[in-house]
Amino acid sequence: MIDLHTHTNISDGTDTPAQLINKALASGIKVLAITDHDSIAGWDEASAHLRPGMDLVLGSEISCQTDDGISVHMLGLLFDPGHKELQDVLSQTRDNRFGRMERIIIRMNEAGIEITMEEVLAQLSDGATLGRPHLADAMVAKGLAKSRDEIFEKWLHNNSPYYVAHYSPTPERAIALIKEAGGVAVIAHPMASLRGRTVSVESFASYVDAGLDAIEVFHRDHTADQRNLLLGIANDLNVLRTGSSDYHGNGKLNELAENTTEPEQWAALESRADARRVISAS
Ligand code: AMP
Ligand code: ZN
Ligand code: FE
Ligand code: FE
Repeated sequence: MIDLHTHTNISDGTDTPAQLINKALASGIKVLAITDHDSIAGWDEASAHLRPGMDLVLGSEISCQTDDGISVHMLGLLFDPGHKELQDVLSQTRDNRFGRMERIIIRMNEAGIEITMEEVLAQLSDGATLGRPHLADAMVAKGLAKSRDEIFEKWLHNNSPYYVAHYSPTPERAIALIKEAGGVAVIAHPMASLRGRTVSVESFASYVDAGLDAIEVFHRDHTADQRNLLLGIANDLNVLRTGSSDYHGNGKLNELAENTTEPEQWAALESRADARRVISAS
């Protein structure tokens, strides 16, 4: 089983990188990618805990925004972590997320919801990428709802009055940076409409021009019709297809390897990186 999109507590997942490696090994996963939001800070711990039986693919899920304000998530896999410009963009995004959280909290306070930045930061692991899920966790801790999902449904979804965007590169720029850094670019859950507006079918051509390698087709937030549509797009534009769990530990219902990538698709994807960067335990 090949699972190319998972999160740890380096962003909004709840397992440490070491715990995720152990769980993935126990679930019989043969290839695991770790893709924390806008960060590679979990790479060293994950590599250090790898054991024989599974290959590790290091990556990141890069938050992007189109010129007309649509949020897009771009998975970068197998890129060189020493590429400065890519790391600068990730670090700018991470920093910007703090001011953005303060603005969200101000809006909530004005609406009478009592929550503070301190309470939100208490939910965040050291150095992790701050996101709305940490605010949701703080609100759950205050008894405002039972789960992240409930908080997102009620208060934190992209169409809510409390939604504030943060600095993000365009999808084309993120793809270009991933490719310059020698990696492969996979657009994550492109039709997951419960997260807000999604990109048009026409925009995929522009991503492929920028260097997009694959489309994440098999994902729990896609219906059967959307999967078929995406398969057609991947076929028409001659790009690869992936499937993944988007596992977040206890943060979401997603189970490891609930969707997977076909081995021959993975082999083709891996061969598009400019060096062999898959990690195997020695
Ligand atoms: P942010 O990056 O701060 O804009 O937060 C977006 C993240 O929130 C996504 O990457 C998801 O992991 C998480 N998320 C989005 N919708 C939900 C939901 N309905 N329930 C739980 N988590 C969600
Ligand atoms: Zn997430
Ligand atoms: Fe995502
Ligand atoms: Fe994700």
